[in-house]
Amino acid sequence: MARIRSDVLISGGGIAGLVLANALQQEGLKVVVLEASEYPRHRVCGEFISTEVLPYLHSLDLPIDRLSPVRINTFELSSTGNRHLKTGLDMEALGISRFALDLFLKEQAEKKGAKIIENAEVLRQHSEDQLNLIVDKSGQEYSAPWFVSAHGKRSRLDTHFNRPFLADTQLYSGIKMHFEGNWAQNTVALHNFKGGYAGISAVEGGRINVCYLVKTPELQAAGGLQPFQEKVMHKNQALLSFFKTHKPVFEQPLAISGIRFGKKQPVQDSIPFVGDASGLVAPLFGNGMALAVRTAHLLHGAMRSVDFKYENKNQALNAYQAAWNIEVKGRLSLSRFVQNMFGRQGISDLALLGAQALPFALRYVLAQSHGKPILPHA
Ligand SMILES: Cc1cc2nc3c(=O)[nH]c(=O)nc-3n(C[C@H](O)[C@H](O)[C@H](O)COP(=O)(O)OP(=O)(O)OC[C@H]3O[C@@H](n4cnc5c(N)ncnc54)[C@H](O)[C@@H]3O)c2cc1C
Repeated sequence: MARIRSDVLISGGGIAGLVLANALQQEGLKVVVLEASEYPRHRVCGEFISTEVLPYLHSLDLPIDRLSPVRINTFELSSTGNRHLKTGLDMEALGISRFALDLFLKEQAEKKGAKIIENAEVLRQHSEDQLNLIVDKSGQEYSAPWFVSAHGKRSRLDTHFNRPFLADTQLYSGIKMHFEGNWAQNTVALHNFKGGYAGISAVEGGRINVCYLVKTPELQAAGGLQPFQEKVMHKNQALLSFFKTHKPVFEQPLAISGIRFGKKQPVQDSIPFVGDASGLVAPLFGNGMALAVRTAHLLHGAMRSVDFKYENKNQALNAYQAAWNIEVKGRLSLSRFVQNMFGRQGISDLALLGAQALPFALRYVLAQSHGKPILPHA
């Protein structure tokens, strides 16, 4: 098999990899994205995306607000002890399925000329003569001066790169289902239960997404998904009422395990990482997709600052690391802190009481969960 050559190789065609592919291809570079899976497909994700991404996505000719998303401006919260609060979101969000969103980003990248190769899980990378050499699971080889890792929250590539966050022993599982029924379309709800929390919000086509994160040992202790739902999640009255009155659309829920929130770095061994591969934000902060777009934007800007000249790669990587420290690092730390308060009996009640007593504190935390609008590079 002849080696496939390009200017940029991106491992992982999720939000971060595909947005970066659109950006760099639009700049005139030849981009190849290697994606382990296929499009379209459902993904474990709350499918709630902050509108901070819109200015940048529009500049890349990615008008996702034209994909008939649901507009969300109201937030509801319930604690393990069944306390409730409701407030407005200071920045509107969109409800859009990953089934539709990822496919759209992929098709737009292809229209610009990028090559997106499916079923091409990257197994290894090494550098030789200023080139990155990549091998996928079929044995196909690729080479490019630029290589970006956008492989999401966990991948065999993390083991290949010997990334320190793999030592984190606190493991979480993520579960997602779509439902049909009545739902206040403008509302995202976050309901706590022992060991985790569930987000509920609408997506296009009249569907309602329920996505939850739970500590894996809690799920195992209950004996699986169904008993966990009945024994633990149903203690939250809002969740019980939702499950009783809505009809699942999927035959089986989608589930992923092995999720770790340990700290990561956006640059390691001279390789830039974007999206979840650079740091995983706690989902109750709801904005991992926006952070994925933001990291793609930051790396795009850093590469642009050296005119995409590979010989100035170190300067670009330093610029990316510095910008990431300013715009991303703090949000990840705050999300870990807030996540620790939820899913714990008693503490989520206290946090909710605190939020009711100090509405400005709640507004502050909600405002920190998103960033300023991501503006196109001048
Ligand atoms: C339970 C849960 C709920 C969430 N809810 C929300 C929410 O409501 N809103 C929000 O904004 N964010 C949410 N998130 C976070 C959001 O899903 C992620 O932050 C976002 O998908 C990150 O995009 P990404 O491109 O970095 O990774 P991904 O979208 O995961 O893409 C990574 C891609 O890389 C591919 N890949 C992996 N390894 C390889 C390899 N070796 N070679 C080639 N390809 C590879 C994968 O197949 C995948 O397609 C949630 C996360 C969880 C766990």
